[in-house]
Amino acid sequence: MATAPLRIGIFGGTFDPIHSAHLEVADAVRKALLLDRMLVVVANQPWQKEGERPVTPAEDRYAMTEAALADRPGLEPCRIELDRGGPSYTIDTVRDLQRTYPGAQLVVVVGSDVVGGLGTWKDERDLRGLVTLAVVGRPGVPPVLLPPGWHGVDVPVAPFDVSSTEVRERLETGAAVDGLIPEAVIRCIRQRGLYATGR
Ligand code: ATP
Repeated sequence: MATAPLRIGIFGGTFDPIHSAHLEVADAVRKALLLDRMLVVVANQPWQKEGERPVTPAEDRYAMTEAALADRPGLEPCRIELDRGGPSYTIDTVRDLQRTYPGAQLVVVVGSDVVGGLGTWKDERDLRGLVTLAVVGRPGVPPVLLPPGWHGVDVPVAPFDVSSTEVRERLETGAAVDGLIPEAVIRCIRQRGLYATGR
């Protein structure tokens, strides 16, 4: 009897740092779409954010992600983009995962703020034929239509209005971040002396 293909979620991001909304999104999509695995893929070099601001070193962002997911069964930190090196393009990650998991169904998870930029992604035409999208709403971002050629579903997630930018700003000014990032991430930030917390 043929076995059903493995269904793998790819939730990519800069995760600078990973926050509670990221965790809710990954969990909700995994459950809603009955995914066998949910990979939280830390970007090595997030090309979309280049030139905007200095990005925290990839190994530090990965360590925070690992810490955040340690008590989250079903969510897996993935360092495939760190190990590949260079700029992180989703198409390269998808091709690598296809080689590792032949025949798997790959679902790329994005917030609604990302959808408008899909047309700029490397090898967009190839990518949209290889994956489906799971789109989650992001507070403050009006609903957006998928660009032509993409297939996807909207996944309802309880809105959680937090961003890594807000978390960084709070850490830099010594404001509280309780509830916005897991305790384990706060400990990791302190141990590694990230975000000039000085705390
Ligand atoms: P920054 O503020 O530094 O731009 P960010 O909070 O947007 O960071 P990323 O690591 O860039 O975090 O995002 C990874 C993915 O998570 C993206 O698809 C983004 O849309 C999604 N995402 C981030 N925050 C939320 C949120 N509050 N609700 C829903 N999706 C989110």
